[in-house]
Amino acid sequence: MRDFLIAGNWKMNGSTASNAELTSGIVDGLPTAANVILLICPPFPYLAAAAGQIAGSRLRLGAQNVSEQAPGALTGETAAVMLKDVGCEYVIVGHSERRAIMGESSATVAAKFCAAQAAGLIPILCVGETLVEREAEQTKEIVSAQLAAVIDAAGIDALANAVIAYEPVWAIGTGLTATPEQAQDVHKHIRADVAAQNEAVAAGVQILYGGSVKGDNAAGLLSMPDIDGGLIGGASLDAAGFLAIAEAAVDLN
Ligand code: PEP
Repeated sequence: MRDFLIAGNWKMNGSTASNAELTSGIVDGLPTAANVILLICPPFPYLAAAAGQIAGSRLRLGAQNVSEQAPGALTGETAAVMLKDVGCEYVIVGHSERRAIMGESSATVAAKFCAAQAAGLIPILCVGETLVEREAEQTKEIVSAQLAAVIDAAGIDALANAVIAYEPVWAIGTGLTATPEQAQDVHKHIRADVAAQNEAVAAGVQILYGGSVKGDNAAGLLSMPDIDGGLIGGASLDAAGFLAIAEAAVDLN
């Protein structure tokens, strides 16, 4: 059985005070179920403070992005070893906002994935189709290509130390959610893609769903056999809302 991972992507939100309050609210309400893991991904400036706040708790820390380059002369970038140094265990790579707005290609995402793993971080690889691609019935082709770019660069075994997040772009921050059946269909396809190269890795890899997940739709999504958690944007900015999603996972135990 795979554990549930409920990951909060705080994006570019909050302040010293509000992020400290959000972190402590989550720590105070953490479920005790051993197979439900919670993760927060605050903006870079707040990572070190969050690491201090969560020390000794079961809450995990991750970053939202990482440079594919080694430390050195690269103004404004953050190396994987630096994220590890401040207490991160995870890092999100290939979020659709970075692919679409910051122009990250699948090759860049694959390089970031490799850099993260080389530093001992667990990459959360985001894949997903746009609305136009879904309407053109290209969803599976798109996610397979995004996944293949990483498998080609890192090797199939690398997915044993990684998480995949299926995030249909049309469902992110829009209030539109894939139905549990739509999401399961793509998750099953992703797992089959991995299984075609390594069945044991496919059986173990966590595949999260992301896209307007909230307390009231989490149970339906998380009850699907190939959905192992959520990557949560908006609803992770409120401790009670985030914890409600985690409780939905606990109730499925
Ligand atoms: C995300 O940005 O990864 C995300 C899933 O956002 P939201 O939950 O707000 O749709």
